[in-house]
Amino acid sequence: MKNIIITGGAGFIGSHVVREFVKNHPESTIINLDALTYAGNLENLKDIEDEPNYVFEKADITKVDELRRIFEKYNPDAVIHLAAESHVDRSITDPNAFINTNVNGTANLLNLCREFWTLNPDHTHGNFPDQSRSNLFYHVSTDEVYGSLGETGFFLETTPYDPQSPYSASKAASDHLVRAYGNTYGMPFIVSNCSNNYGPNHFPEKLIPLCISNIINEKPLPIYGDGKYTRDWLFVIDHAKAIHQIFFEARTGETYNIGGFNEWQNIDLVKELIKQMDEKLGNEAGHSEKLITYVKDRPGHDKRYAIDATKLSSDLGWKPSVTFEEGLSKTIDWFLENQEWLEHVTSGSYQEYYDGQYS
Ligand code: NAD
Repeated sequence: MKNIIITGGAGFIGSHVVREFVKNHPESTIINLDALTYAGNLENLKDIEDEPNYVFEKADITKVDELRRIFEKYNPDAVIHLAAESHVDRSITDPNAFINTNVNGTANLLNLCREFWTLNPDHTHGNFPDQSRSNLFYHVSTDEVYGSLGETGFFLETTPYDPQSPYSASKAASDHLVRAYGNTYGMPFIVSNCSNNYGPNHFPEKLIPLCISNIINEKPLPIYGDGKYTRDWLFVIDHAKAIHQIFFEARTGETYNIGGFNEWQNIDLVKELIKQMDEKLGNEAGHSEKLITYVKDRPGHDKRYAIDATKLSSDLGWKPSVTFEEGLSKTIDWFLENQEWLEHVTSGSYQEYYDGQYS
């Protein structure tokens, strides 16, 4: 495997995936293809930017000419696709940005792969006898495509899609496109659907980093509705390791659910965060609980997501490396040690800096 393109590699999860591949595959060139939107930040990759097998290419997946330039330059053997608009709240105010990037951008990438790769027209309907990793399109997706659960049950790989937000609908559409290119043109693919991630480099608009930042600054901790929304949480480095393992070991044409076997109601999660942070900051126990502020609910908010990742653990032996409490502690420590990162991404100064660097 010579050249692997990873899209969205400057983002939260993508940066950990890029690092995992760069560190473990000196024989391959890892091309980080990213448009550097507000969510993309090369600061996330400072520790590996000088590695000889790492390259950054600024390109927008909604612009075919920009993608074509990179495909011509590297003739990639595989694509791992993470670039997306990823924040549900933003999808409610601006759905078209999500349709454009997540649906049209994915279609642009698939079309270029189809053009550059030699696909076997007999390998349709998920029939991929050649299990080499060559010409593999790996699509990173979310458990939100499955919709919302009641108080019991889990999402399986066979659960019918029922997306409820413009974000999850756009990701569902892109998942369908990837499978359709596999079924129709014989393009080898893998899709993985993961639960909520947390960890270092998480953009501070999302619940955990927002609350960490607001506890540091003694600002309100906004909790939607009654706080009983339930999510499964996975430490981002465990997600990156799962993607790496699935990429090399899973059968092509398959879907894998990735999760932490770790459900939390938002309010309990925030209380655990307060407990750990008050301790680390030397505050009295419960000091930051006064910051909890219930806010108007998100429209169409999904009640509960819970993922069953049994297929991944039984097929490939994968399991999370840390408990939630351990992962949260590592995450808080990272944010406390990297407050400059937090200030930079919040003020947008890195954005301006890198716009200047790469425009
Ligand atoms: P993120 O918002 O932190 O990063 C997205 C990255 O994509 C950024 O670097 C951004 O610059 C880049 N990007 C956006 N639009 C682009 C475009 N038009 N062209 C090129 N690059 C573009 O997102 P994330 O949380 O790291 O999520 C990465 C992927 O994982 C997404 O596909 C998301 O749907 C999926 N996912 C996320 C979670 C989660 O909890 N965050 C869970 C499951 C799946």
